[in-house]
Amino acid sequence: MAAEQAQQVRDGFTALYGAEPDGVWAAPGRVNLIGEHTDYNDGFVMPFALPHTAVAAVALRHDGVLRLHSADMPSDPVELRVADLAPETAQGWTAYPAGVVWALREAGHEVPGADVHLASTVPSGAGLSSSAALEVVVALALNDLCELGLKRWQLARLCQRAENIYVGAPTGIMDQTAAACCQAGHALFLDTRDLSQRQIPFDLAAQGLRLLVVDTQVKHAHSEGEYGKRRAGCEKGAALLGVDALRDVPYDGLDTALAQLGDEEEVRRLVTHIVTENRRVERVVSLLESGETRAIGPLLTEGHASLRDDFRISCAELDLVVDTALASGALGARMTGGGFGGSAIVLAEADDVPALTKAFEEAFANAGFTAPRVFEAVPSAGARRLA
Ligand code: ADP
Ligand code: MG
Repeated sequence: MAAEQAQQVRDGFTALYGAEPDGVWAAPGRVNLIGEHTDYNDGFVMPFALPHTAVAAVALRHDGVLRLHSADMPSDPVELRVADLAPETAQGWTAYPAGVVWALREAGHEVPGADVHLASTVPSGAGLSSSAALEVVVALALNDLCELGLKRWQLARLCQRAENIYVGAPTGIMDQTAAACCQAGHALFLDTRDLSQRQIPFDLAAQGLRLLVVDTQVKHAHSEGEYGKRRAGCEKGAALLGVDALRDVPYDGLDTALAQLGDEEEVRRLVTHIVTENRRVERVVSLLESGETRAIGPLLTEGHASLRDDFRISCAELDLVVDTALASGALGARMTGGGFGGSAIVLAEADDVPALTKAFEEAFANAGFTAPRVFEAVPSAGARRLA
């Protein structure tokens, strides 16, 4: 599958630009197992990489020109001048790879120009981070070809800068770090404050387990405004509590913190979610490290309840996935990603997968919702050179 995709992208490059690429690279989408909306609170997250990847064929140029093309966006290559890249000039999907070149140059790294042709199997806009896959694949290719010697976490930081400043999307560091640093058969325990990380064994198949991603295929229009409000509310909470970030509120200090917040009901709910969610991540880490994978199920479900009731970013479709999963024998389920649509994840015994899949189809049909896309998420490799 990966080899086939690599060959296709290589052939596409040659057909488009009339020359062989210098190499072919891949970077995956991700699912966040647990740790939702904690990343802009200096907290813990735990993503793992999907088998779905963005693949890019790249050749360096030495005339200051950057040509960008995506097989998934049929049009001629977009041609830009590296020296002219500036956040205000960002347009459409090319803002992601162009932003990476801009961020590298801003950080003092020379990029003399490049031809890029890419294609991606990461579903776009499904909360699986197709955008970070796009950024990281280009960053890794340029890191190799320009011999920049940057470490994976440094590439992730530059990609985040590209997305925050060049594209203009206020996202945390999780997505890019997941794409850059994940390993097959593992989830990545990431402390978003200091970027320290640990690979946690998460080999589902070996234990007869499966993790399903249920993409509701909906994206409710108000999601970006709501993200901004949650973020601002968390910052307000930290300010009222006199801490740098909500990460600094300890789990056993939650009651004291809530009392201190008085009648700030909205902030109290946000603080409750962040503090309990960080705790859930730590508990999932210790369960996985002691081989008790099934026991993380209830923590996933608790996390969903917290996102639905306290953080209030779920929606009818996501709640339906979780309720249906639990009623059909799943070990645990939760929404994942930004909320108001996108995907949910379901931890289940391998044998229960066919019945669960059918249950989702039926439940969505009964509710009059568009059928969800259900697929299995095998914890896969992070960014890498393919050829
Ligand atoms: P997510 O990262 O959750 O998938 P985003 O809105 O952050 O959603 O990123 C989606 C955007 O990334 C798309 O609108 C498009 O601009 C870009 N993108 C994703 N996949 C591709 C692709 N295969 N080719 C070109 N652009 C892509
Ligand atoms: Mg994204």
